[in-house]
Amino acid sequence: MAKPDLTIFLAAPRGFCAGVVRAIDIVERALALYGAPVYVRHEIVHNKFVVDDLAAKGAIFVDELDEIPDGDRPVVFSAHGVPKSVPAAAAARKLFQIDATCPLVTKVHMEALRHHGEGLEIILIGHRGHPEVIGTMGQLPAGAITLIETARDAEELQVRDPGKLAYVTQTTLSVDDTKDVIAVLQRRFPSIRGPFKEDICYATTNRQEAVKSIAGKIELLLVVGAPNSSNSKRLVEVGVKNGCRRGLLVQRAAELDWETLQDLATIGLTAGASAPEVLVNEIIDAFREHYNVRVENVTLREENVSFKLPRELREGQPAA
Ligand code: SF4
Repeated sequence: MAKPDLTIFLAAPRGFCAGVVRAIDIVERALALYGAPVYVRHEIVHNKFVVDDLAAKGAIFVDELDEIPDGDRPVVFSAHGVPKSVPAAAAARKLFQIDATCPLVTKVHMEALRHHGEGLEIILIGHRGHPEVIGTMGQLPAGAITLIETARDAEELQVRDPGKLAYVTQTTLSVDDTKDVIAVLQRRFPSIRGPFKEDICYATTNRQEAVKSIAGKIELLLVVGAPNSSNSKRLVEVGVKNGCRRGLLVQRAAELDWETLQDLATIGLTAGASAPEVLVNEIIDAFREHYNVRVENVTLREENVSFKLPRELREGQPAA
């Protein structure tokens, strides 16, 4: 029997961002320079495929530093950033630490530190429990930063002094939802200081805009990404809010439930910033087994951002 026709609108930009590429490069370069094992605190990026691949090459992933034995083995901190207490604890144990925090997350840390230095109370817009939020809040003493998640939180927020306020945001939020939260803050506290727009990074913004550009013409949006990946989950929400009836987050083709994927004529496909392209291709190949697939590339804009590796890895000299 002939397979039914299916058009896959393949959104771009999608997949790996510059911060994820750098974080993975850091672990691989550390393995090349210093040999295995290289310890990595937390998932270097939120993707099991990436983590398993690095583990196979000699990376050991740990939740906390106390799982790492004393010695000269490198320990890498993940792209999401860490509270200041973590490098301090590593230094106290003389561990060889390498920071893979994305420079765009570090930028938010610096903003928070600057506002705090100017005596401002800081409001962080983000998702409670996400490692990036834990890392940003941990740049300052407890109580210096108040976390809010929604426009309603912004409405109910009580502050110490409405004239001495600033806000920063997580880098991987929904651009549209965050605009609403900021609008409430600016209405209630007209002198609140903040970044030019928000702190949502270029990669998150571009992937959401690319999804918006296809959402109105697809029956289903598939986002390749992990369930704990903030930017991937936001892509599903953006698709559904912008005209696509169904959105699904999927890690591997094996998870696809073909009972629910019949009678489709158009789908959209994208990938979160921590999902490798090989998994996108795996999904397309899986659809080819069930459909006569035509792939239409929809490229919103090109990205050419890259970040340098830490100097000790760039210069290739084993650290003292
Ligand atoms: S999603 Fe944005 S902030 Fe996060 S690692 Fe990528 S570029 Fe950096």
